[in-house]
Amino acid sequence: MKHISFSPPDMTEAEIAEVAEALRSGWITTGPRTKEFENLISMCCQTEKSVCLNSATACMELILRVLGVGPGDEVITSAYTYTATASVTCHVGAKVVLVDTAPGSFEMDYDKLADAITERTKVVVPVDLGGIVCDYDRIYAAVEGKKHLFCSANDLQQAFGRVVVLSDAAHAFGAQRRGRMCGEIADFTSFSFHAVKNLTTAEGGALTWRPIPGVDNEWLYRQFQLLSLHGQSKDALAKTQLGAWEYDIVAPNFKCNMTDIMAGIGLAQLKRYPEMLRRRRELIDRYDEALKNCPVQTLDHYGADHASSGHLYMVRLSGRDVAERNDVIVKMAERGIACNVHYKPLPMMTAYKALGFDIADYPNAYDQYRNEMTLPLHTRLTDDDIEYVISNFVDIISK
Ligand SMILES: *Cc1c(COP(=O)(O)O)cnc(C)c1O
Repeated sequence: MKHISFSPPDMTEAEIAEVAEALRSGWITTGPRTKEFENLISMCCQTEKSVCLNSATACMELILRVLGVGPGDEVITSAYTYTATASVTCHVGAKVVLVDTAPGSFEMDYDKLADAITERTKVVVPVDLGGIVCDYDRIYAAVEGKKHLFCSANDLQQAFGRVVVLSDAAHAFGAQRRGRMCGEIADFTSFSFHAVKNLTTAEGGALTWRPIPGVDNEWLYRQFQLLSLHGQSKDALAKTQLGAWEYDIVAPNFKCNMTDIMAGIGLAQLKRYPEMLRRRRELIDRYDEALKNCPVQTLDHYGADHASSGHLYMVRLSGRDVAERNDVIVKMAERGIACNVHYKPLPMMTAYKALGFDIADYPNAYDQYRNEMTLPLHTRLTDDDIEYVISNFVDIISK
């Protein structure tokens, strides 16, 4: 029997060499490698600037703080996502507003999104689930249509003059839609480099943004430095200049910077990334081909005007319910194949129930969840591995 992991990190000698170089360099925390990694992320996303932190969660939380989102404000996101997408709103003391998915879709219902916008709404957080870029045309139409309700509380909010779009693109680094890269589509885009993601730094994240009229990129970048490094006026590298010991603390801030060790892993991963994306596409094409006559629905990862990052191979088992889906996952496990569910909707989780959410108000999200399972998809899968997964999956679901 084979043992197929769900999403192991794909590490090679290249990552090991970069980390060893970082360790030997005498500089292991935020420094030249992190800055180089940021520059390359901006290049890949075709943005002017980006910032790297120690997680996507930190990226999302800090941009909410930079935007001045807090108590009394509302942030809208999808009921169908990972907790981090919504918990950052709690971290800043604002109110989470969850929108149901559209019928038969993993994306938010964009009509309901428009209806959910009030004069307290500051940000909407769409989720590029599985690596597929959402329909941002509809999202921008929704926020533009409700522009008259927007009340800006500071200059940065004023520069937007409408609800800000923050993409949770934890899955979607390298994805594109209509000729634009994920990272240059939403106002702000957050990527995760957690160990299970397409491109990893063990833990880590990056935030990119589109140019904001009247807002200086260097000012914006500096806000992230202050928020992620104790509010200290000089970073550790600047302080190494001979005699330049003195610094100020401008606010009692957080600590969530990326280290050069993490960035070293990322630099090696980035060089390999085009090949990794190509391999993911090959695996998805193989799954699609093998499952096209099976009673399953799959995602549309590639099309005339879009290409996903190929992060998750999510399938919906037609006509099955929770118990049957769980049974298929157990049977796959018995054959050595790790599968998962993306996601149990947030209103079903204890923390969100305690906030007053009820899954009964999110029937479409529940419908997506009840028969969803995610098959292994990663760049350590061999051709033999994927055939093993497919033959077992087809065998199990046809019984
Ligand atoms: C992984 C993930 C995150 C969190 O990323 P971290 O880097 O671990 O903070 C957020 N949203 C989604 C959808 C994710 O899958």
